[in-house]
Amino acid sequence: MKQSHLFTKARKQSPKGEVSKNAQLLIRAGFVHKEMAGVFSYLPLGLRVLEKINNIIREEMNMIGGQEVYLSAMQDSSSWKKTDRWDEKENDVWFKTRLRNGNDVGLGWTHEEPLTSIVSQHINSYKDLPRYIYQIQTKFRNEVRAKSGIMRGREFLMKDLYSFSRSQEEHDSFYEQVKKAYTKIFKRLGIGKETFVTFASGGAFSKYSHEFQTISEAGEDTIYVDEKKKIAINKEVLNKEVLSQLGLNKKNLVEKKAIEVGNIFNLGTKYSEPLGLDFIDDGDKKVTTIMGSYGIGPTRVMGTIAEVYADDNGLVWPESVAPFSVHLVSLCADKKDIKEADKLYKTLLDAGIEVLYDDRQGVRAGEKFAESDLIGIPKRIVISSKTIKEGKLEIKERRKQKPTFVPVKKVLSAL
Ligand code: ATP
Ligand code: MG
Repeated sequence: MKQSHLFTKARKQSPKGEVSKNAQLLIRAGFVHKEMAGVFSYLPLGLRVLEKINNIIREEMNMIGGQEVYLSAMQDSSSWKKTDRWDEKENDVWFKTRLRNGNDVGLGWTHEEPLTSIVSQHINSYKDLPRYIYQIQTKFRNEVRAKSGIMRGREFLMKDLYSFSRSQEEHDSFYEQVKKAYTKIFKRLGIGKETFVTFASGGAFSKYSHEFQTISEAGEDTIYVDEKKKIAINKEVLNKEVLSQLGLNKKNLVEKKAIEVGNIFNLGTKYSEPLGLDFIDDGDKKVTTIMGSYGIGPTRVMGTIAEVYADDNGLVWPESVAPFSVHLVSLCADKKDIKEADKLYKTLLDAGIEVLYDDRQGVRAGEKFAESDLIGIPKRIVISSKTIKEGKLEIKERRKQKPTFVPVKKVLSAL
């Protein structure tokens, strides 16, 4: 993409009143637009990052047998009344409105109820199970505080997978598979080193749930990490009994701030029972389906990556989610040189490399470099009349101080 065509522009100043680092940088660099606290629009650069995050999650969900759906955001009250989750006294995150005929509707803040109702119309026998169904979809929550930029949205993206199993053993084995898939996802997203499987409270059907917590000062949660064993405990469940059960010693735990990027849950029959999701087993008996739910917040993940990687000069994207792999910055001003730069852009594109080409005229070199640092594309190539004369290009990695110089002919292999 040519930067001269990009409709967004980088800004020097942080938006007034924005306190979170991820939002400051993402807004300044033109990745997102803040509509109001907790509500963001994704602009071309931001959408490219988000789509890459989504695709990594999607690939891993498909790999463990997930089938993708896209459920409605608008929710009828009936199924939620059956599980006692319609009343705002039970769940104060609802956004609700009223249709012209007087019926109430809510905007989905999670999707156990509607999906369980749908699935119950398709599942009859043990032969129809297990099934694993997921979506990447917009959720609405009337969050009290929305001061963490895109990490806590009132409108945000969630990947939510739901499992439907015939027995606790079948459920448990899938739960372990998801745990592994999540570990792989966060590794591929570039935050594997900072992300810990964390024991959290489990609800009525199991002792624990598991959160995936990424260590960061920007986190809203407090966890206790055993760095050697690579596990952590959420503050809310930390007590003597839990420590001994998990074989952990309080002396080896370090208190850390962390961001909850994912959460996996054994739901037992909490939703399948009231919503009548049962099946006939191989002995002709009616049995209630065992469910699990497994969430990741792609928009929160994007904010987390921004927080974890950013430096004093701006955003730094890991290769796997970067909006482009190469930022080609041209300082060429005369016709012949511009032609050379255009040629290089085409060579890179033809090689299948995703390039943002700063072809803008009349922008000072210093300004181009500062914006390039702010946007945070992993590799920068500088082409100028000087490099053309010398037959070499300057390649610099965003995370490194020093550039390397490569002959023009070797640029593809150098990348
Ligand atoms: P939190 O404790 O941070 O409010 P939660 O326990 O309410 O999270 P879940 O309902 O389990 O979160 O949602 C699954 C995933 O969706 C979370 O792990 C997180 O990644 C993401 N998520 C939840 N709430 C938000 C939000 N307000 N904005 C962005 N992402 C969110
Ligand atoms: Mg919440």
